[in-house]
Amino acid sequence: MQEFAVVVIGAGPSGGHCARLLAKLGHKVLLVEQHESFAINNFSSAASPLEILEKFDLPETVVASHWRKLEIVASNVYRQWQAPQNLGIVFDFMKLREFLAKDTQKHGGEVWLGHRYLKCRQEADQMIVELKPKHGEIVAVKTQLIVDATGYSRAVIYPHKKDRPSFYKATGIEYLIEVDPQAYQKYADSLIFFLGYKWSPKGYSWIFPMDNHQLKIGSAWINAPHKIIQESKPLRDYTEAIIKDYLQLNEYKLIEIHGSILEYSSGLQDVYYRDGVIAIGDAVSTVNFLGGEGIRHGMQGAEIASKYIDLFLKNSAKDSIQNNQNSFDNYQKEMQAYFANKWNLSEQIGKKVYLEYSDARIDQGVSYLKYFTIEDMIAILFYYDFSKTSRGIKRALLQKIDELISWISSLFRSSDRDQF
Ligand SMILES: Cc1cc2nc3c(=O)[nH]c(=O)nc-3n(C[C@H](O)[C@H](O)[C@H](O)COP(=O)(O)OP(=O)(O)OC[C@H]3O[C@@H](n4cnc5c(N)ncnc54)[C@H](O)[C@@H]3O)c2cc1C
Repeated sequence: MQEFAVVVIGAGPSGGHCARLLAKLGHKVLLVEQHESFAINNFSSAASPLEILEKFDLPETVVASHWRKLEIVASNVYRQWQAPQNLGIVFDFMKLREFLAKDTQKHGGEVWLGHRYLKCRQEADQMIVELKPKHGEIVAVKTQLIVDATGYSRAVIYPHKKDRPSFYKATGIEYLIEVDPQAYQKYADSLIFFLGYKWSPKGYSWIFPMDNHQLKIGSAWINAPHKIIQESKPLRDYTEAIIKDYLQLNEYKLIEIHGSILEYSSGLQDVYYRDGVIAIGDAVSTVNFLGGEGIRHGMQGAEIASKYIDLFLKNSAKDSIQNNQNSFDNYQKEMQAYFANKWNLSEQIGKKVYLEYSDARIDQGVSYLKYFTIEDMIAILFYYDFSKTSRGIKRALLQKIDELISWISSLFRSSDRDQF
């Protein structure tokens, strides 16, 4: 039976990054992915702020396009911001995960595509992991630690569906289309978000640019009751409405339709470690509830986890199980210290915007964003810095006072004129 220090299940951004970091540290790593190719589950829209490349040492080859404009379209209001320089990227999600897997191999790790994790058991101080290749018999491998990086399915940490607690579930669907170069130019450097009942009830929709004159048009919503909306159309109808009514394209080529789901633990109540299994990425709700951005945060979580995994692998031979449990309790503490405040606030705001507000209130909110700069918008949308909103309120009040003063002085000027 083959033996590895650590087996990472799931080669998404979190699993791939974790495996590559551990391989770089010299550990014997196996990265396992159920799909035979990264083209199969190419589900993520994969937009991120620019910092992600340098922060996680990623090459430009995984980037499909850059963005420097933000647009928000609500049912009756439109706002736009732009910067002279690039502010972010849209990944080619397939190339990103391919790169992480190849980098793992480059540093001595193994990658087994087309292998599905089935189950594990503890034998003495080791774990036996059973994997089912797409074509062939079940294979078992030995390891000291398993990393659950299986995303929303949490396949390792929750082996039995009946034991899973309830999660907030969101569904996303996306159309990848190719348009003519002239139409593409209009959207080539923008992230466009759609809010409100007309375009995207219970969630938001988007248009993101890719390379080769391709655009990603998607919609996502939370599968939970809305305070006001009783009925809605199927999710894909909203995506198609954006193609038909917003883009008004006469001709386009549909490349593919893909989608996935996200499951988020309210208040970050996930299990981070249990009996030789540590969970990372979406398996511990690193995806942000408000923005649905999860790549950068999954990779950040993988960095935190890999520190504790490294310590565990270095100490496990001499440490008791209790010490290992304590070490992973610290992992949970560090993760919660990093994420909890902003994630809990994002969840509260997200629930209000997506599941409670009237369409008029969403219009009003978007309209009020005119007082925000592009820097404020980036801080709110990507760094969940809601203190910007109070600064925006102050700016709005000052602006209103200015408008009032100039209106009053214009009255005086006209009454002066009337006297002569
Ligand atoms: C429609 C949509 C659009 C999105 N857009 C963005 C965006 O613009 N920007 C952003 O940052 N985030 C976005 N996200 C979120 C982001 O994609 C996720 O948060 C991120 O992919 C999570 O990474 P992960 O590695 O934790 O999990 P995943 O990417 O879900 O990877 C889990 C992997 O585990 C594998 N797996 C599962 N079970 C098994 C098993 N039993 N055996 C072996 N392998 C298994 C899966 O096949 C998968 O490859 C979007 C999500 C959706 C659904």
